[in-house]
Amino acid sequence: MAYIEVKRLYKRYRMGENVIEANRDINFSINKGELVIILGSSGAGKSTLLNVLGGMDTFDEGQVVIDGTDLANFNDYQRTEYRRRDIGFVFQFYNLIANLTARENVELAVEISEQPLDPGQVLTDVGLKERMDNFPAQLSGGEQQRVAIARAVAKQPKLLLCDEPTGALDYETGKQVLQLLQDMSRKKGATVIIVTHNGALAPIADRVIHLRDATVDKITINPKPQDIK
Ligand code: ADP
Ligand code: ADP
Repeated sequence: MAYIEVKRLYKRYRMGENVIEANRDINFSINKGELVIILGSSGAGKSTLLNVLGGMDTFDEGQVVIDGTDLANFNDYQRTEYRRRDIGFVFQFYNLIANLTARENVELAVEISEQPLDPGQVLTDVGLKERMDNFPAQLSGGEQQRVAIARAVAKQPKLLLCDEPTGALDYETGKQVLQLLQDMSRKKGATVIIVTHNGALAPIADRVIHLRDATVDKITINPKPQDIK
């Protein structure tokens, strides 16, 4: 069975009389350990879908089965537990705490996890051995994004959800971050989902889910995804 099965998913936002259908009849599946890109232009419904998959938001209809459990059956408490236990998030603007060092940012995040990895080791793995006692403002954009990835990975999440993780980075630095995410999937077996509007990223993924006007336009499988070099 696939690791993630989404069937007939609908998510609507209600604003007074108006109803916006942000996700409409979405269907796809994802296998464990895949690197997946959710691709679409602004307003296509990508962030909405990522929020649903990560248990940050509820949905109106359909099934979102992750590791055999349908998120539709979760109450608020169970959704929060799922989010804390199973999900790592990486955002475009890193969301690091400014007055904590790189190491402290990672330590804080793993406090609530059951089987955390050693923060110092994870920071070393992402190439920040010499920088872990620096504050975010002392690090370059790429280094801050690597701290954010270390923070997400140290929880040993089953699922790593990344919203435009290279959006604020220059080309070379972005490449390093993508390489790290590809390694997470290939070497550590994590399921990694990247949301982006940048079609140039598509060749690196095992699976590309194209979203358009709130629904799946097409799904592409890359039998031989491009190595990031
Ligand atoms: P994307 O991430 O692809 O840019 P979003 O998922 O953010 O798309 O948005 C999809 C649609 O849902 C857009 O029309 C957006 O305006 C609308 N939308 C997103 N979040 C909300 C919200 N909290 N309340 C109302 N409408 C929203
Ligand atoms: P990049 O081109 O990778 O985004 P920068 O040009 O911003 O990085 O920085 C280059 C190097 O200088 C990086 O290794 C970064 O850690 C270091 N650096 C940048 N800003 C500071 C700072 N305020 N204090 C200490 N080191 C810094």
